Amino acid sequence: MEAIQRTVKYEADLSPQFSEEIRHLPGGETLWHCIQCGLCSASCPLSIYMDYTPRRIMAMTREGFKEEVLQSKTIWLCASCYACTVFCPQQVEITHIMYHLKQMAIREKRYPRNFPIPVLAREFSTWVRNHGRVSEFWVVFRTWRKIAIGRLLRMIPQGLKLMRLRRLPISVHSIRQRRQLKKLLAQMNGGA
Ligand code: SF4
Ligand code: SF4
Repeated sequence: MEAIQRTVKYEADLSPQFSEEIRHLPGGETLWHCIQCGLCSASCPLSIYMDYTPRRIMAMTREGFKEEVLQSKTIWLCASCYACTVFCPQQVEITHIMYHLKQMAIREKRYPRNFPIPVLAREFSTWVRNHGRVSEFWVVFRTWRKIAIGRLLRMIPQGLKLMRLRRLPISVHSIRQRRQLKKLLAQMNGGA
């Protein structure tokens, strides 16, 4: 269900730089073709769980509601299924824009507090960057240790069961060419 806007937003609080930044990212310019028809929200299988529907996120991004967009749960609940993008009559690259918003939220550390998905995403990418593959045990452990230690403790019985079934190995495995992987990722991110 769409959240009800409870605060009045003054023009001075908006961030035109935010929308400009999105405009210059791949697919970002398509946001200006949006006619607010709402087909993206209607086709999104997760919109009922989102605080703002995809249609609203598109409108708010274009108008510069940076704080609200980056703090929203919507961008993290987006499962990148591309249904919205397929149905959009204006070919707005909604899924790609959601990716850009997630990346920006992580970079600027503006994601919603005590919400596990952004922390999980960060842990996941750190683990891939450092080891070339993921250890489910350590990614889950590090995520919940940061968010809710009580929840982590409650997971212990389930974790032990999985360990007994050899479904949750604690050992860390890394690929051989880690240095090359780091170099490759740095190049992809515009580094070295
Ligand atoms: S379907 Fe496309 S044009 Fe319609 S509201 Fe969504 S993004 Fe805008
Ligand atoms: S890509 Fe994201 S926003 Fe679009 S329909 Fe799928 S879950 Fe919804």
